[in-house]
Amino acid sequence: MNTKSFVSKLNQITRALLSMTPAQREVVHQSIQASCTEITMDELIQPLFNVLSQCPHCQSTHLKKWGKSGVIQRYRCKACRKTFNNKTDTPLARLHKPHIWEEYAHCMVLKLGSVVDNCCPFKWN
Ligand SMILES: [Zn+2]
Repeated sequence: MNTKSFVSKLNQITRALLSMTPAQREVVHQSIQASCTEITMDELIQPLFNVLSQCPHCQSTHLKKWGKSGVIQRYRCKACRKTFNNKTDTPLARLHKPHIWEEYAHCMVLKLGSVVDNCCPFKWN
């Protein structure tokens, strides 16, 4: 799927999800989970990063791949020479336990307040 089609489909899906109740969103979520293998945070973020394709420091679009940190692709900006990855300058940057944050975000989307209230996100970083 090319980038333009991806963005168009993403907008359609977002509008549809926003019109649903939390219970209906949970049914969609469970259906997706049952139909596919585990999707990592990077698999979710990378397409959005590819659409933006700009340096988080100076917004230049002149980027070069700059090795990997583990499995995460790093980039170097040709304008400011700073390096970054697809999570730099986002709330997901420098997290040591991103899988726990995924669960936390999922609970927030479903408005499961009692589960979220019992969590301590400050210990997860
Ligand atoms: Zn830059």
